Amino acid sequence: MERRLDETWIRLGILKRKANYSPIICYETVDPKRIYQLKSFVLTSGEFSNIEHFFLYDPWDGLGTLRKGPDGPLFEPYKKKALTQTALSSRIRPEGTTEIPQLKGILKEIDGFLKTTATVFIIQNLSEAREAETGFQAALRAWAIDPRVVAKGSTVFVLTSDASKIMDDFTKEFVVVIPVDPSTREERANLIQVVGEELGVGLDSSKVEAASVSLSGLNLHQIESVLLESYQRTKDFSPDTMKSLKSEMVKRSGVLEVRDPQFSFKDIGGYHAIKDFVRKYVINVLKRPERARHFGLGLPKGLLFFGPPGTGKSLFSNALASEVQLPFINLVTENIYSKWLGESGQNMKNAIMLAEKMSPAIVFVDEIDRFGKRSGAAAGSAEEETQRVFSQFLEWLGRPDREAIIVGTTNVPEHLDEAFLRAGRFDYKIPFLYPGPQARLEILLVHLGYAAGGKRTPVPMDIPAEEVAGFLEEAIVPLTKNFSCAELEELVTRAKRFAFDKDRDRLHREDLLLATKTFRIDAAARKRTIALCMSQARRFTDDQTFLDAIEEEDKVYDNEDAATSGSG
Ligand code: ADP
Repeated sequence: MERRLDETWIRLGILKRKANYSPIICYETVDPKRIYQLKSFVLTSGEFSNIEHFFLYDPWDGLGTLRKGPDGPLFEPYKKKALTQTALSSRIRPEGTTEIPQLKGILKEIDGFLKTTATVFIIQNLSEAREAETGFQAALRAWAIDPRVVAKGSTVFVLTSDASKIMDDFTKEFVVVIPVDPSTREERANLIQVVGEELGVGLDSSKVEAASVSLSGLNLHQIESVLLESYQRTKDFSPDTMKSLKSEMVKRSGVLEVRDPQFSFKDIGGYHAIKDFVRKYVINVLKRPERARHFGLGLPKGLLFFGPPGTGKSLFSNALASEVQLPFINLVTENIYSKWLGESGQNMKNAIMLAEKMSPAIVFVDEIDRFGKRSGAAAGSAEEETQRVFSQFLEWLGRPDREAIIVGTTNVPEHLDEAFLRAGRFDYKIPFLYPGPQARLEILLVHLGYAAGGKRTPVPMDIPAEEVAGFLEEAIVPLTKNFSCAELEELVTRAKRFAFDKDRDRLHREDLLLATKTFRIDAAARKRTIALCMSQARRFTDDQTFLDAIEEEDKVYDNEDAATSGSG
């Protein structure tokens, strides 16, 4: 079986060229297999049989000519003294090899060819802002509208990861920009069959299909590596192995993390108003899309969870993914901001692309406020880069064809840019408040393993299982006023530690009592936080019924003051 690559992306560019749309075609790809594919196509397809000169520029290898070799395209350095520069390059490159040339001189040299002969000029791996300052953009604009370039049938191909990184919006107007799929469905199916045949893996069409689906979003090079590794591990292309290999690969990109949804709503204590709301407006709709469509309802695509730390916003997102049986993808915001100027935008772009490829999925964006706010940043500054990421994210959030369901969290909704809060970006804004007495009881039960249907195994105690809830309610819950959910979990952990230290095989009630005493919570400060959360909930939630239900649910704010506080 032969390897077949999709040529649609190349042909789309050529079509635009033929229609005289522009002689400058920018393909957004840096996959070496794609670059090689373009060069081979240009040299062999017949589409360019009238071309006299093929030039290639790469920031590292410099300018060269391209010709057809017996095993593929051959690159030969272009020898013209004036074009090379010695300083840096002669020190780091061995004698006799080409030297890092100046792009400006090269553009001048090529300019003549493009205007007077039929020339193809490929610029590959151009990725740095530095190169944008070398007259590159001006050259593209000039060529795009030069009648001689157009009349000669000359074409310039620019290959880069992201057109907006090397061209401003004005220049982009002159260029045909074509995003390139990392791999199409057919390519994946073909590659799976080819590699399967080479390795002797028995494959039927359903297996090929399953593998192809689980590898979507990866580029050709990555797919081949996953297939080979999956074979080494299991002598098969097992979907599970490939899925985990893909997760690893995605993780290596540093910006996304695929996690298995671990918990369900049964592992969340309390918060029934939120569970009911989400079940009704999110889960049921996602589970029965045809019914939603019947009423012309769109599927929910964005939720904003806000509230203080440790109130279960992440846990809830994870549980949501398991309730709707979708993958849970964590967008690692801190890894998006790279220390290298110019990388962050690329990281974000990759993250969005990959997340979309794996969707429908729950994409979890913790501390969404990190994306900052809109501001007028100076061109070329680090701040400008941050702004770019911000706009990319916002654009994604507002995209009507987005498949990813984004769940964003924030502790500081008041710091969010207005644009996030505008209608249409997030379908629902859901407040997470501190747990009231009933929720605290249920949370303690979850972490002790006594919640019905929960994933955790019960911790053996000094009282029978049916008495645990009663004891907690009477003795522990009143001592945990002002605790966050995370602190309640920690309380259970500390109690277990005491039991462990005393070398007992059961958790005693006194361990829990003792644990409550070890917590230092500034009650006055906590009260202020709680009041603040409440006012935020009123300010940012637009559904009054829902808000009423939340306030009604647990009465944490008014009625509890009479209870004794275990917090200091
Ligand atoms: P947030 O995202 O709001 O900061 P997390 O979801 O990370 O909070 O929760 C912190 C810890 O508290 C987690 O380990 C989680 O298991 C626990 N937790 C939070 N809410 C609950 C809850 N309602 N029931 C049980 N455990 C909870």
